[in-house]
Amino acid sequence: MNNSDAERIETVLNGLGYKKTGKEKDADLIVAVACSVRQAAIDRIHGKVRNWQREKQKRKLVTVLTGCVLATDKKKFTESFDLVFNIENLTLLPEMLHSMKETDVRERGKYLTLKPMHSSGFQALVPIMTGCNNFCAYCAVPFTRGREYSRPAEDIISEVKELVENGCKEITLLGQNVNSYGNDKKDLPNFAELLSKINDIPGDFWIRYITSHPKDMSQDLIKKFVQCSKVCGYLHLPLQAGSSEVLKNMNRNYTYEHYKNLIERVRAVKPNIAISTDIIVGFPGETIEQFEDTMEAFKDLKYDMAYIAQYSPRSGTKAASFDDNVDKKEKKRRLKVLTEILAGTALEKNKKYVGQTEKVLAEKFEKGLLFGHTDSFKLVAISGGSKEYVGNFVQVIITDNNPWALEGTMV
Ligand code: SAH
Ligand code: SF4
Repeated sequence: MNNSDAERIETVLNGLGYKKTGKEKDADLIVAVACSVRQAAIDRIHGKVRNWQREKQKRKLVTVLTGCVLATDKKKFTESFDLVFNIENLTLLPEMLHSMKETDVRERGKYLTLKPMHSSGFQALVPIMTGCNNFCAYCAVPFTRGREYSRPAEDIISEVKELVENGCKEITLLGQNVNSYGNDKKDLPNFAELLSKINDIPGDFWIRYITSHPKDMSQDLIKKFVQCSKVCGYLHLPLQAGSSEVLKNMNRNYTYEHYKNLIERVRAVKPNIAISTDIIVGFPGETIEQFEDTMEAFKDLKYDMAYIAQYSPRSGTKAASFDDNVDKKEKKRRLKVLTEILAGTALEKNKKYVGQTEKVLAEKFEKGLLFGHTDSFKLVAISGGSKEYVGNFVQVIITDNNPWALEGTMV
C-alpha cells in the first residue's frame, strides 16, 4: 500500500516540476511514507529524520511525512518534519507545500483517483479500497487509515484496462481488507463480482489481490479461483493465531475451526493453490499452550509462506492497555519455532514443482539469471534467459528447490 501511495505522491510532485532522484543526498524534497503496524518502522523514521535535520543545516531540504501515522507519533513528527499530512489529502499537497501547513479538509478516497506513475511497465499495484472497520485489538490501521472506503468500480476497471492495453502483465489489487470491497456502499459490486469484471478485460495478464480477511472469504469468492482464469493460484490469508481464545482476545471474529474450514474449501476447489499467512507471536496473555495451538495449526495447514511478527504494542489500540507480558526473548523463540515448521512445509510444497513446466513472469535479469514468480507466487531463478525477456511470461522447467525459492531453465 505504501509503495502504491508513493507512486501517487510522485504524480503530484511531478505536476509541481519535481523529478525523482535515486539518491537522498541529491534531493531538495524528501517524502517519507510511514508504516505504523510495528514500532520498529516508526523508530527508523525518527532516525532518518535526525539525519535530514543535520543535512538541513548544510543545504536547502524540505521534509514531508505521510502514510500511516498514529496521532501520538504525528505530534512528535510535526516537530521534526516540515510538513506532516494525511495521505487522503494528497490531491491538496501542492497547497500544503505552499503554506507548509496541513489542511483540515478530509478528501476521502479522492487520492486513489490520481493517475499514478507506475514504477514498472508490466506489474501494477491498484488500490481498490482503503481503511478498515475491524479494530483488531493490536492493530493501528483503523486509526491511521480510517473506516473502509471502496473506490468506484468503473474507476478501477478503467485503470486496469489502460494498464493492460499498455502491456501490463500483472495487476495486484490492494486493500487493507481487499475482500470487504463494496461492503461500504449499496451500489457497488462485491469483491467476487469485481474480480469477474476485471477477469473479463481482454488480454494475457494475471490478477493478484492482498490482503484478505477470513470473515470476507465467501464461497463465491473461493469459486473465482477456478471461474476466473486470470486470478492467480495464490491466497494470502492471515490467521494471526492458532488458538481460538487468542483470536477472541485479538477481536478477529473467527475461530480456528472456521479458518481451517475455509482453507479446506479453498483447497477443495483449487488443490494446488499456494497459501501464505500472517502470524503474531507473543500477543498479551498468549500462554505456552496457546502458542502450541499455533504450532499445531502450522503443522496442520502446511503453509507455503508466512510473515511472522513479534507483537508490538500500538498506542490507542485496545491491546495497548493489556500487559505486554511475553518477554522479547520468548517472542523471538516462538518466532523461530514457527519459522522452522514453515521451512519444513514450504520445502515439501516446493519439491512438488521439480520436473514441472511453469509459466513465470520474468521480472529482472541479474548476474546471468532471470528472476520471476509463478502464478502461485513462487520466486524462480531461471537460467538460459536474457534481459530481453524481462516483462514477459516465459515457460520454465523447474529443476531444483529450497523452502523459499525454485530454480529452473527456460524452455
Ligand atoms: N488487514 C490484514 C492485515 C494488515 S496489517 C489482516 O487483517 O490480516 C499486516 C500484518 O501486520 C497483520 O496481519 C499482522 O500480522 C501484523 N501486525 C499488525 N499489527 C501488529 C502489531 N501490533 N504487532 C505485530 N504485528 C502486527
Ligand atoms: Fe488491522 Fe487487518 Fe484487523 Fe483491520 S482487519 S484492524 S487492518 S489486522
